[in-house]
Amino acid sequence: MSLNQLVVAKFGGTSVADYQAMSRCADIVLANPNTRLVVVSASSGVTNLLVELTQANVNDERRLSLLKQIAQIQYRIIDELGSPQDINAQIDKLLSRMAVLSESLELDRSKAIMDELLSMGEQCSSVLFSAVIREKGTPSNAFDVRQVLRTDSHFGRAEPQIEQIAMLARDHLQPLLVNQVIVTQGFIGADEQGRTTTLGRGGSDYSAALLAEALTAFAVEIWTDVAGIYTTDPRLAPNARPIAEISFNEAAEMATFGAKVLHPATILPAVRQQIQVFVGSSKAPEAGGTWIRHQVEDAPVYRAVALRRDQTLLNLHSLQMLHAQGFLAETFATLARHKISVDLITTSEVNVSLTLDKTGSDSSGQGLLSESLLQELSQHCRVRVEDNLALVAIIGNKIASTAGICSRVFQVLEKHNVRMICQGASPHNLCVLVDEAEAATVVHALHKNLFE
Ligand code: ASP
Ligand code: MG
Repeated sequence: MSLNQLVVAKFGGTSVADYQAMSRCADIVLANPNTRLVVVSASSGVTNLLVELTQANVNDERRLSLLKQIAQIQYRIIDELGSPQDINAQIDKLLSRMAVLSESLELDRSKAIMDELLSMGEQCSSVLFSAVIREKGTPSNAFDVRQVLRTDSHFGRAEPQIEQIAMLARDHLQPLLVNQVIVTQGFIGADEQGRTTTLGRGGSDYSAALLAEALTAFAVEIWTDVAGIYTTDPRLAPNARPIAEISFNEAAEMATFGAKVLHPATILPAVRQQIQVFVGSSKAPEAGGTWIRHQVEDAPVYRAVALRRDQTLLNLHSLQMLHAQGFLAETFATLARHKISVDLITTSEVNVSLTLDKTGSDSSGQGLLSESLLQELSQHCRVRVEDNLALVAIIGNKIASTAGICSRVFQVLEKHNVRMICQGASPHNLCVLVDEAEAATVVHALHKNLFE
C-alpha cells in the first residue's frame, strides 16, 4: 500500500469494551489494507473510574475497589487472549502505576498527576488492541502517542501544537506504518517537558483527526455504536434513515443539535486538510454509515431535523436600546464575564431575546443564570427568563435562499406556538423554539412532512 492512501481508524469506548468488541474492530481494520493507524479510546467505563480516582473525597476502600474494577476489565480481555506473558506484564505495570499515582494524589493534588492517571485507560486498551490484531496474524505494535502528540501544559484540556505534531509524526510515526498496523492512544498527549496531558473528555476523535492531519491521511473513520448520522433521532421518528453523505457545514449545524454522534470541532483538523471522515457502527459495519466531506454530490434542501432540549430564553427589555449604541456590547460583556455562551439571538427595537449555549458555557451545573448575573443585567434592562423550551432545527442547504421553505415548515407547525425563529445567518439551518412538552411531536411531524 502507499501511505498517501492511509486510513486512520478510531474506535470509541464501547467498540473496545471487551475482547469480542475488540475482535470485531480488528476485523474492520484488517478488511482494509490501507488502515495502518488505529486510535483507541479507553475500554468503556474505564475513564469514568479513573476520573473518580482523581477526586478528593475517595477513601482508601473506594480507591482499591476502583482499581480492582479497572483491573478486571483488562484481565477479562487478557484471559480471552490466552494470557500472553508479555501482555500480562505490560498491563500489570500500567495497573501498578495507576495505584501509585492514585495514592500520591492524596498528598499532592497535582493536575499533572491527574492527567497521567487519566491517560492509563487508553494506554491499556492500545496494548490490548494491538495484541488482538497480532493474534489474527497481522504484524502490529502499540505506539506511545506522547512521542508525537505535543500539547501545551494546560492539564485537563491541553491545546495541541499542530506544527510540532506534524513534524514529530512524520519523523517518528510515519516510518512505522509501512509494514504493520500501529495502534495508538486517543485523548492523551504530552507537553514539551514530556509530561502527560489530556485533551478533555471525549477527546479521542480529536486525536484521530489531529494524527490524520499530521500524516495527510486519505480518510479518518470514527467507529462508534451508531450507524452514522440520521435524518433525525430514530427514537423520535421511527422512519428516520441514515444519511450516506453530508457536508462538513451541515454536520457542524447538526452536531450542535444533540446529534451526539460526534462534535464538529473534534474533526476540524481533518476538515482543514480536506480529509474525509466516516462515522459508522463497529457492531454493524455492514450497515454502512455517514461520510462527512468537504464537498458532497447531493446537497438537498432538507437534510435532517435536529432537536436540542432544555433551553433557556433570556428576554431583555430596555428603552435605552432605541437609537442607541453599545447596548448589546454591554450585555454580551456581562454575559461573557459570567462565562455564558450565547446561542440564538433575535432583536426588536427595544428587546433582545437570546438562548444560552449550555455546552459552551462554563457552568457549575447549578443552572446557568446565577443571581449575581441577573442582578447585573437588571441594572441596565428588564430581564425575563423563560424555561421549558426546546430548539428544533431544520438542517439543509440554501435554506435562506429557497422560496417556499417557511410556508412548508410553518404549515406543519400550525397548531404549535413558536416562541422564536432564527433563520438567515447560516444557509444551512432554520431554527424554531417551541414548548419542551411539544418538542417530540414537532420533530415527528416535521420529519414526516419533509422527509417521508
Ligand atoms: N476515554 C476518554 C473519555 O472517556 C476519551 C474518549 O473516549 O474519547 O473521555
Ligand atoms: Mg468515549
